[in-house]
Amino acid sequence: MNGTAPMYKATQRPEAEAQLRTLERLETVCRARGRRVTRQRRAVLRALLAEGGALTAYELLERLRVEDGRSTPAGVYRALEFWMAAGAVHRLESTRSFILCEHPEAPHPGQLLICRECGQVVETEDKGVAAAAHRLGEQLGFVLDRHLVELTGVCGSCRARGRAAEPGRRPA
Ligand SMILES: [Zn+2]
Ligand SMILES: [Zn+2]
Repeated sequence: MNGTAPMYKATQRPEAEAQLRTLERLETVCRARGRRVTRQRRAVLRALLAEGGALTAYELLERLRVEDGRSTPAGVYRALEFWMAAGAVHRLESTRSFILCEHPEAPHPGQLLICRECGQVVETEDKGVAAAAHRLGEQLGFVLDRHLVELTGVCGSCRARGRAAEPGRRPA
């Protein structure tokens, strides 16, 4: 116990108890907006939460089918559409996959940092980036309706691994 809270990373597996709380919170947000949480919808949310990272619709379907053979691609897409509308799921355009958002209470602009080596996704919200994007839109006469910025690269742990694997490299 050193008293410092680790920065939340979307692909780090949270404890099971924390997962359950997150699930309950997301479902409450949903119900508060007058939306029903069906079995399929809950299963999709649970699978994304258990993964702790991004999944494609196909990967989601595979996971759902382990528990429920009746799961269909159309059902998975409907559930994803539902959670995206509720703000609980973000779509990653660059990798055609979906990720859980743990703070869907209010619509929010944000940045998603995606590691192309391990697939780790970190969601962050830098107001400066959002403001710059808004300014840019205004200058160029655009009304922007998607405020999630996807940034791709190699994460810290993959870079560390890569350095360790470099032949002939000696520690500094
Ligand atoms: Zn989000
Ligand atoms: Zn990585």
